[in-house]
Amino acid sequence: MIEVKNLTKSYGDFRAVDDISFTCRSGAVTGFLGPNGAGKSTAMRMIVGLTPPTSGTATIGGVNFSDIPNPGTQVGVLLDASAQHAGRTGREILMLGSITMGLPKQRVDELLELVGLTEKESKRRVRHYSLGMRQRLGIAHALLPDPKVLILDEPVNGLDPAGIHWMRGLLRYQAERGGTVLLSSHLLHEIEVIADDLIVIGNGRIIAQGAKDELLKGQGTLVRAKDHAALGTALRAANLEFTTHGEDGFTVQSTPEDVGLVAAQATVALTELRDSDGSNLEELFLSMTSETQRGTTFPIGANA
Ligand code: ADP
Repeated sequence: MIEVKNLTKSYGDFRAVDDISFTCRSGAVTGFLGPNGAGKSTAMRMIVGLTPPTSGTATIGGVNFSDIPNPGTQVGVLLDASAQHAGRTGREILMLGSITMGLPKQRVDELLELVGLTEKESKRRVRHYSLGMRQRLGIAHALLPDPKVLILDEPVNGLDPAGIHWMRGLLRYQAERGGTVLLSSHLLHEIEVIADDLIVIGNGRIIAQGAKDELLKGQGTLVRAKDHAALGTALRAANLEFTTHGEDGFTVQSTPEDVGLVAAQATVALTELRDSDGSNLEELFLSMTSETQRGTTFPIGANA
């Protein structure tokens, strides 16, 4: 379990991470979602002791990362896939890691196979790797000691759809065997298929957190009409809270019944009326981040 309490990082007057608290439970994949510059990497660096927090604490299994004996064997970390030594081959990098951690040599071959790097690729220098291959190598390195906790910053960056599918299976397997997985992403759709729980961060602050399914529930009603303006006028007149959705729709913070009634009373013909749940994390994400930019809080029950 990873526990973060009131973690803050200031650079001068600027708060890169602003009083965030969350828990990543074991047996689950926790997605850390936010636009670029939201503070994800800074938070992860603080969790693994690479950046000292201005205030607050982060523990893994109840202890600070730096107090874990031989932490590399307990916690698999991938913070920057491009940070590998470009002049070494993938195999050399894994071999060095396994020697440092005192692991048997065959672990390197096991991991190369697991992450789908061929024998030929493993003998190529990392400077000739694509970003996707570097990610796979970084994952292999993080998994070398078979750790129970994985902390991965943007691991799906550069992976093709097949790679993302593979990553999903890998992280699911880690969670199912009781592991704790924290992965960050600014890519909504990728994290939507991978994560069980979500922490959404914007401008250094947590905007929402909880089980993905819970967060996706109760996001109001999606309604569309040919006469978009008339529908907007009717919703406004009925004092319903709403945001624009695409070119001809609205997401309304009310039930489909209520929205249907308002439209009927205003004699606006609808082309679509439904719960806006489904799996539209993008809607949730965009509304949340735009709300943060305006400095207000998104009104959902699971807010942090
Ligand atoms: P994310 O990982 O979500 O893209 P980061 O954690 O990398 O975001 O960055 C959050 C904010 O903190 C950004 O505005 C970034 O420019 C700033 N930042 C990160 N590291 C430093 C640093 N060492 N000095 C000053 N500002 C920093």
